[in-house]
Amino acid sequence: TDEMAGKTVWRVEVADETATAALAADIAALLKNGDTVTLAGDLGAGKTTFARALIRKLLDDPAIEAPSPTFTLMQIYEGETARIVHADFYRIGSASELSGLGWEEAVEDAIVLAEWAERAPEVLPPDRLDVRLSFADADNRDARRVTISGYGAFAARLKSFKSLRELLRR
Ligand code: ADP
Ligand code: MG
Repeated sequence: TDEMAGKTVWRVEVADETATAALAADIAALLKNGDTVTLAGDLGAGKTTFARALIRKLLDDPAIEAPSPTFTLMQIYEGETARIVHADFYRIGSASELSGLGWEEAVEDAIVLAEWAERAPEVLPPDRLDVRLSFADADNRDARRVTISGYGAFAARLKSFKSLRELLRR
């Protein structure tokens, strides 16, 4: 764990997709409307898998499909308590393209989950949670390393997040 002023970093290894989903569901407890989570990592690293598990937990609906927004660019979910925008910037050329899609209106008071967020960093708030997934082991297709960084208000929230601490101890 790296703990500097205004930044908290957790690193955890997960064995398979089920463990990734469990971790994402845990992270849901940290989120409220207005929050932004970025999801980084190579194609197939598990960004959409992570986002899907978060969406299912936040909406309390384990059956919701939550398809990848690669082609729709953004999927909007209106839950009873949470409003979620799941976006994928992979095919987005610039932040102005997002404006054309009504990004500002869509994300107002929503929980934003953004894959490939580094392609339009201008639209992201500095206080946020960054999740990076990477292949942990060349010989194991299911293992992932997950790095979760909390900035600003998220640094303290992540630092005091007991449930993740317990998960890391397992
Ligand atoms: P991305 O959105 O990063 O391109 P996806 O979530 O769409 O990636 O795809 C991840 C793929 O890797 C899925 O086919 C999933 O079943 C598989 N997978 C295997 N192990 C894991 C893991 N530990 N976490 C997430 N996905 C995993
Ligand atoms: Mg994806």
